[in-house]
Amino acid sequence: MKKISILFISLCFVLSCFSQQINYSLSFPNISHHEINIELIATHLKPGHVIARMSRSSPGRYGTHEFGKNIYDVKAWDSKNKPLPLNRIAGDIFGVTQEDGYVKITYTLYANHPDGTYSGVDEVGVHLNPPSAYLWLEGLDTLPVTVKFSLPQNSKWKIATQLKSTKDSNTFEAPDFQYLMDSPVKIGDIIFKEWNEKNRNGGMVHFRLAIETSSPDSLISIFAAKLKRVTEEVSAVFGEFPDYDFNEYTFLASYRPAMFGDGMEHRNSTMIMFPTKFDGNNDINVFAHELFHSWNVKRIRPKSLQPFDFTKSNMSGELWFAEGFTHYYGELIQERTGNISLEKYAAWNIADYLNLIFNTPGAQRYSAVENSREAVFIDVGSGIMDNTTNYPNMFTSYYQYGASIALALDMELRSRFSLSLDNYMRNVWLKFGKPEIPYTIAGLQQVLEELTKDKDFAKDFFAKYIYGNEKFDYHKALTQAGFLLQKKYPGQAWMGNVNLKSKTNLILSKTIMNTPLYKAGLDENDQLVSLDSIIIDKPAQLSEILTRHKPGDIINLVYKHFDVIKTTRVVLDENPELSIVLFENAGLKVTEKELMFRNAWLGSKIPGEKN
Ligand SMILES: [Zn+2]
Repeated sequence: MKKISILFISLCFVLSCFSQQINYSLSFPNISHHEINIELIATHLKPGHVIARMSRSSPGRYGTHEFGKNIYDVKAWDSKNKPLPLNRIAGDIFGVTQEDGYVKITYTLYANHPDGTYSGVDEVGVHLNPPSAYLWLEGLDTLPVTVKFSLPQNSKWKIATQLKSTKDSNTFEAPDFQYLMDSPVKIGDIIFKEWNEKNRNGGMVHFRLAIETSSPDSLISIFAAKLKRVTEEVSAVFGEFPDYDFNEYTFLASYRPAMFGDGMEHRNSTMIMFPTKFDGNNDINVFAHELFHSWNVKRIRPKSLQPFDFTKSNMSGELWFAEGFTHYYGELIQERTGNISLEKYAAWNIADYLNLIFNTPGAQRYSAVENSREAVFIDVGSGIMDNTTNYPNMFTSYYQYGASIALALDMELRSRFSLSLDNYMRNVWLKFGKPEIPYTIAGLQQVLEELTKDKDFAKDFFAKYIYGNEKFDYHKALTQAGFLLQKKYPGQAWMGNVNLKSKTNLILSKTIMNTPLYKAGLDENDQLVSLDSIIIDKPAQLSEILTRHKPGDIINLVYKHFDVIKTTRVVLDENPELSIVLFENAGLKVTEKELMFRNAWLGSKIPGEKN
């Protein structure tokens, strides 16, 4: 027996049957002060120099982050637990030489910003977005990984994650580095609601709502039932659910004051968090949006984001599709599930897209592709905005910009081809998403050409609205559904929308290009003194003064620019804000044909459901 085992060991050595692996252990000895102790052990390495680094970006959030700023007490150890010299190569890059195929690196993570990008820990629970937490070893990204959580003693915390569970309920596995980084973890007093959905291939998909809230269980059950309907309505767009790993998708949700409002998509889960009280209904559109992403962006993946580079921001010209079309569907699903009224959907959601693309300089100056590329600077997450930029005058959100393109394409497919955007999304899914072939914009155009069998239409649509910044005729298109697009304040004099500080009348936001105030030379930090020769005591007076005028009138404005009093003349304009109302609410007759169009677009796609 002994002989056999020696032979076995030597064979193992030659064949490397003790395979290389990365193991993380997380413990929580100082949660009151938001610290997590992390240990990274790599085994069976080739002796030599190892580089460890923190990420500078996180999938789904397109700006650059310096996650290295939140780790300290970084130390390295050999297999006998003796310290190894650690060389800090850059702020977030460390080098260590190991000689026996083993290295352990320990460090402390400060985690006090629980949102879709950063991590958080406190007495209530743990919220982990992996790129903000894990040091990783360069060149070893194909190695399998385990993560073990040592929970505080006597805690009744539960762990929820898309990672593969093991026999030890506190240890999880990921096949490689990219998978680990896409697998957020929520630990705490979690309540689970679970249900199954049939998939087209005959299998079942297991859905889990893992939620942290102090609200009663009855509200969570009501919400879970609504969420079930959302999952069905989203899958009806694509015709099937993706093949989630382990046939499971998890909504990780937190409603508690420590949270920063956010939602972040992942391959088999989503992390959603709000500081507000959970009422059994709030923010379900975010759940729909993030679930839609498990098709559109996690599997229907732009080539520009594949593979994701954690050392820098990842620029993508396709976010008008990845985020914008998802934004369109996140809200459309609310209408299809009957969660919001037609009036609100028209007045809030569609009017929001159209006001942005008609009334913001970014959409007048730049295409949807160019606006998408700005995400590397603007998409930095909650509460970390950069005020040094001129974004209000050169950027329009690719969420609403993309949603307006989705709306235009939906209208065109319905009215010209008796098809719909659902058909288009399904074809994009079958061509790129299901086989997981990263797409380009040219590929998206090709799918439109194949679907409509009209090469000129596809070419023209992409040239005008995606590569170019022409504006679609929404007025005419929405009429088909009995929706009236009109000016919200026709004939009303207007100077521009600005935030004024109460009492001092200081302009708190940048003035917007082509508005009367901008053209008159006023900008952020200027202080209004008098308008039309009337001293302004409070911001509300401005609208009173403007009601006495009409667009085209020229009025005097006195303002203070730091210490200097200045006088200028403002040429008033008509308020350009748009609104959308149902024909029947505008005193117009809505025809049977218009109602049919409306219902085909906004009604439920689940067989047997009426909405
Ligand atoms: Zn999104």
